[in-house]
Amino acid sequence: MSLLTLSGIEAFYGPSQALFGVDLSLEEGEVLALMGRNGMGKTTTIKVICRMLRQSSGSVTFDGKDIGALASHKAAQAGVGLVPEGRRCFPNLTVHENLIAAARPGEWDFKRVAELFPRLEERSDQMAASLSGGEQQMLAIGRALMTNPRLLILDEATEGLAPVVRQDIWAAIARLKAETSLALLVVDKSIRELSTIADRAVIIERGRSVWADSFDKLGHDVTERYLGV
Ligand code: ATP
Repeated sequence: MSLLTLSGIEAFYGPSQALFGVDLSLEEGEVLALMGRNGMGKTTTIKVICRMLRQSSGSVTFDGKDIGALASHKAAQAGVGLVPEGRRCFPNLTVHENLIAAARPGEWDFKRVAELFPRLEERSDQMAASLSGGEQQMLAIGRALMTNPRLLILDEATEGLAPVVRQDIWAAIARLKAETSLALLVVDKSIRELSTIADRAVIIERGRSVWADSFDKLGHDVTERYLGV
């Protein structure tokens, strides 16, 4: 049984339809790259998984349960952790307070997050607003881990960061894959970096999933056709 299954998802923003049929599945411990050009529906698909947007048709199953009618705070309780695009943290709370505010019982606590991102421990009494972009991204990942999810969703986690900081983030993601049983759903523009961690890929075009296979089958013909590279 898959950990997450989306089947025939359609979704609207007001009168405007954004998803026209998204299917995907993700196994425990698997890393899935969700790919597609800008505006094709990746973030909208993530919003449906996290229950921030309700699908108009189709089903969302997580850990064997239909979560298609859950409120968003219940999705987190069910085990879905989100690192949102734009890294939203509480700017006027310290690093430590940001992490504690997200905590739910489980193996991930402040100590373990600090071990993954030592920089957060060094900055633990600093306001989140005073962190660099890369540190804020580490904090956003740390916050999601503190909810002790079974599925961690990373939406453009390396966007806008300096190359050296990107490397730190990718190294942390690689450790999560190697050392935990977390399932990861990753949206990122860097095919090269994705190729180092992703087991499978799903490509979305104009609100539809149009290609799904193991990542190593993602040949030049496919990337050229659907991703323009
Ligand atoms: P990007 O890589 O640019 O973030 P994406 O693949 O994540 O792109 P989405 O953000 O899911 O794409 O957008 C899918 C479609 O839904 C686009 O046509 C977009 O303009 C539209 N859309 C996204 N958010 C909203 C919103 N809040 N209200 C109305 N339309 C929206």
